[in-house]
Amino acid sequence: MTDPGGERSALERAIVDSIPFSILATDASGRIRIANPAAAALVGREQCELVGRSLVEIDAAERQRYPDGSPVLAHAGGDEAEWTYRRTDGSTVPVYEAIVPLAPEAGVAGGFLVVAFDITHRLEDRRRFEHVATHDSLTNLPNRSLLVRHLDQAVERAEHSSLELVLVLLDLDHFKRVNDSLGHHIGDELLIVVAERLLAWTRTDDLVARLGGDEFVIVFEDLGNGADLDRRLEELLAAVLAPVVVHGYELAVTGSVGAARFPADGRDPGTLLKHVDIALYQAKAAGRNAIRWFEPPMLVENNDRLALSAALRQALDQDELSLVYQPQVDLGTGEVVGVEALARWASPSLGAVPPDRFIPVAEDGGMIAELGAWVLTTACTALAEVQEQLGRPLRLAVNVSPRQMRGRAWLEEIAAAIETAGIEPSQLEVEITEGLLIEDHGDVVAMLQSLRSLGVSIAVDDFGRGYSSLAYLTRFPIDRIKIDRSFVREIDTAENAAIVDAIIVMAHALGMTVVAEGVETAEQEQYLRRRGCDEVQGYRYSPGVPAGSLGMVARALSPQ
Ligand code: C2E
Ligand code: CA
Ligand code: CA
Repeated sequence: MTDPGGERSALERAIVDSIPFSILATDASGRIRIANPAAAALVGREQCELVGRSLVEIDAAERQRYPDGSPVLAHAGGDEAEWTYRRTDGSTVPVYEAIVPLAPEAGVAGGFLVVAFDITHRLEDRRRFEHVATHDSLTNLPNRSLLVRHLDQAVERAEHSSLELVLVLLDLDHFKRVNDSLGHHIGDELLIVVAERLLAWTRTDDLVARLGGDEFVIVFEDLGNGADLDRRLEELLAAVLAPVVVHGYELAVTGSVGAARFPADGRDPGTLLKHVDIALYQAKAAGRNAIRWFEPPMLVENNDRLALSAALRQALDQDELSLVYQPQVDLGTGEVVGVEALARWASPSLGAVPPDRFIPVAEDGGMIAELGAWVLTTACTALAEVQEQLGRPLRLAVNVSPRQMRGRAWLEEIAAAIETAGIEPSQLEVEITEGLLIEDHGDVVAMLQSLRSLGVSIAVDDFGRGYSSLAYLTRFPIDRIKIDRSFVREIDTAENAAIVDAIIVMAHALGMTVVAEGVETAEQEQYLRRRGCDEVQGYRYSPGVPAGSLGMVARALSPQ
């Protein structure tokens, strides 16, 4: 380091001595010639102790070497790199290290300048950032991006062994209702409990991730080939969804599960994730609280569903939907007293699609609100015209999907449809499903009461299917019960006759009227009349007919 005046040398020394970077000058073979105090402090040695040693003695990472054994004093891909030094006490310190050839004036032929600084904090920040980017902040579980990365590695491991991977997608049933009725903080607590239980139930090699919302994924590595997987999943569900007490509320949640195996059900993470999703959809379609393993035929169904969804979107825009109206007959007078609006879809490409198929598609595809609003306004307007022709008022029943009943907007829609058509609110009846009442968390009662206060009446559709308890009916403002057609069909069996009797007696005791659906024969009608059923609906009287034919049908059905 030539400096004839000596001044520059003093300044340089001062800088080198006080700079917080480790500075080492080495000869061509990496032997340390000069070390500054920061270098000594960094590796926990005296400055003089460092001089004369090879750079590799403070390395914790292995440098590349030349054939003669001397270290390569350069980093792959450039002058700088992250590196690790070793302290005398054996501990290591991560550094950022730059190595540049010394200028010839330095007087060390072929020597190097090695500058480094401690990046412990930087790495910690990076790790923290990594963690935040790859974990869910609520439950601290890995998120989707980490799941995919993990799954990639797990698939690779499984490929090299004969082990099976099992991918499980768990979705809490009706979680939104917990959030909506009890508040987000309760929902959050519930998710945290579920996450903890999943972690407690699984083993350290398994991965539990949260995909967002109320969806969790578990990757099981090696559950043991041929293990009784169904039983294991049932145990998992039972353990994870045991009742939880959150802020004094006892929550009994159920969950739906889709499951898929590597390699049988997919050979890459993307396919596996898609297939568990399809299996989960099937579990939900089977009424939730169910487990479904992926099976290839589900793909066909899934494609059908997607095609149907796209076609329905178009149908809504291009007026391919229409309504028919099925008369409801008073058993006492024989008069048509009401009609039920039923949706019809004549698709140019798919033909006639029954509502049992397209209503669920509309619900899943986010189209049910639009479809429901259309049904409501169309039916109210048609009713006004029909009763004009008929010269007397009729009641109009409209089917409403639970997913459509959200919020004030829906109530406003109903009020507007009634107003525009110029009918009385008491002429409109909303048919809701029994399931809606069963799953109630408080908001349903409020919604039904608001409906009632508009003057609209409420009927429970398909009554008796699945749930035979009548007791909860007392909690809801209900005007009418519709006995499910499956009971009417086999009304000649003792069991069904008893159920029908019980429904009629109970409904009357609660001040509700009863409509029997699907009445096809004179025997069925007679039985229902004897038991005091109020109204009937079914092919014995009429199928659903277009609004234009309704006046004629009603007159033909009237007793002479
Ligand atoms: P639902 O509300 O139980 O409607 C009665 C169903 O029974 C109708 O089938 C009707 O055509 C059929 N039916 C009537 N009389 C008889 C009979 O004597 N015997 C037999 N076997 N069946 C009879 P459809 O029109 O296929 O409707 C099926 C379901 O689709 C409806 O069941 C309802 O849940 C749903 N749906 C129909 N239109 C709408 C709508 O506008 N909105 C909503 N959300 N759902 C609708
Ligand atoms: Ca109905
Ligand atoms: Ca029904």
